Amino acid sequence: MPYQLDATVAAIRSIAPSLFRMTLHCPAIARSSLPGNFVHILTSKAGEPFWRRAYSVHDTDTTKGIFEIIFKVVGRGTSSLSRMKKGDKLNLLGPLGNSFTPPHKKNIVALVAGGVGVPPLHFFAKTLVQKKKLPPRNILFYVGMRTRREHFGLPELRGMRLNLFPATDDGSFGYRGFVTSCFEEAMQSTSLALDDLNV
Ligand SMILES: Cc1cc2nc3c(=O)[nH]c(=O)nc-3n(C[C@H](O)[C@H](O)[C@H](O)COP(=O)(O)OP(=O)(O)OC[C@H]3O[C@@H](n4cnc5c(N)ncnc54)[C@H](O)[C@@H]3O)c2cc1C
Repeated sequence: MPYQLDATVAAIRSIAPSLFRMTLHCPAIARSSLPGNFVHILTSKAGEPFWRRAYSVHDTDTTKGIFEIIFKVVGRGTSSLSRMKKGDKLNLLGPLGNSFTPPHKKNIVALVAGGVGVPPLHFFAKTLVQKKKLPPRNILFYVGMRTRREHFGLPELRGMRLNLFPATDDGSFGYRGFVTSCFEEAMQSTSLALDDLNV
């Protein structure tokens, strides 16, 4: 069931130019969010922009009642969000959207995402590992960013011991080029048939 309530900004940090990680204290949403869900945020109290903006849940900590979003500053809503300070309140609607179909125990799961498309898959990978839905080696996570500094989830992903394949547009870390090309090339060079993957 989605809630409409005020969350408190618990932390906001710039990860790379224009890229921010925001932690929100909101126990009801932290508790009920599933991988793939998003929250609709009223980014400004001044009514500009008028419409809410959607942000995927990147991570949750139910014991602390917090969850995280990652956003890139591109327009009015994200400019307003980037100026928020610890202790500020934001009105949220959520969790909204669908989650992912859980894989079978023996599946190999390939997750492919880039930029601000990574958060829902990061949350999915973490849930699969924590709930022991799959052995970590059966998760192939292809993560693309423009440059090395933008790879915000690396420590957590490394800690999960899954198969991580980083890519950067500028070649500063991992594969040079788009993450989709990295994935395509990997599939062509292995004996794994795409049919065997839950993609
Ligand atoms: C389900 C879902 C999940 C999402 N999850 C995330 C997430 O995890 N992280 C994230 O960063 N984003 C996410 N988004 C996108 C997010 O909802 C916003 O659309 C995005 O952050 C831009 O909002 P904004 O208000 O900053 O930009 P806006 O002001 O809405 O502008 C959007 C784009 O239009 C351009 N633009 C604005 N005004 C003009 C103009 N007058 N003329 C020409 N171009 C213009 C801007 O430069 C920008 O490129 C998600 C969207 C959906 C639907």
